[in-house]
Amino acid sequence: MKQSGDLEITNLTKSFGGVRALAGVDLKVGARETVGVIGPNGSGKTTLFNVMTGIVPANDGSAIWGRNGTDLLKLKPWQVFEAGVSRTFQNIRLSPGQSVLENVLVGCHVASRTSWWSVLAGLPHVGHRDSAACDRAMDALKFVASGIAAAPHRLAGELSYADRRRVEFARAIVSDPALLLLDEPTAGMNPRETEEIADDIRKIAERGLSVLVIEHKMKFVASLAQRIVVLNFGRKIAEGAYENVRSDPVVLESYLGRKGDHLTQKLETGM
Ligand code: ADP
Ligand code: MG
Repeated sequence: MKQSGDLEITNLTKSFGGVRALAGVDLKVGARETVGVIGPNGSGKTTLFNVMTGIVPANDGSAIWGRNGTDLLKLKPWQVFEAGVSRTFQNIRLSPGQSVLENVLVGCHVASRTSWWSVLAGLPHVGHRDSAACDRAMDALKFVASGIAAAPHRLAGELSYADRRRVEFARAIVSDPALLLLDEPTAGMNPRETEEIADDIRKIAERGLSVLVIEHKMKFVASLAQRIVVLNFGRKIAEGAYENVRSDPVVLESYLGRKGDHLTQKLETGM
């Protein structure tokens, strides 16, 4: 681990023109803790990650991370990565025309800022090879995706959606991060794939990282996270254990925008 410890976000604020995507969010993640973030579309979840990883600048607030007390909001994306924070994207960002191994190798190159930056920007990139990096990439692949590791030279674009997500996981952990940010890792997956991906995430979390996972499906989050934070219109409207959050009337009403008996089920399945 480069840097272990806690994350403490205070008063995180971000506006896009007239839209307040984040309106003063406070959030803590402890060392080795998995915290779930849920909320309706447009509630600011992805913006939370984009601000934390230097992709969009915050208007106010701080995100104090790790033993050194670094404020992530003051860092460029590659510096956030170097500080031991890694992420995946709501829309998987791999280079479909490159091999699985080359895609994972991008995550090895902490020093190769252009590679990592190109990933964040969604641009094609060239992963260069060295044998130590290849070994680490293969280890990461075997850890999260043993089936894919058997054919590391397949093009990423040929893989199933769930396997592409696993390659993204491998790329995210190959740098041995201490904090992993996962943005809707099971979006678009069927119930069986969702369960398999949940198993993969649990396995990754057991390595001892802190994990912040955004997800629509509350039952899925509940199976992973010790604590759940609920956002609505850029504000934190609830926080706590699954049992408390799922029955919170403010959550039921705000998260789904209306009341009814079917709400709990909708909340659990995300459908
Ligand atoms: P969520 O991930 O919870 O669905 P987002 O964080 O993507 O929500 O978006 C929160 C709000 O901020 C939305 O109204 C969205 O349209 C707006 N938003 C997000 N990113 C940008 C951007 N780069 N430019 C303008 N508006 C944005
Ligand atoms: Mg989002």
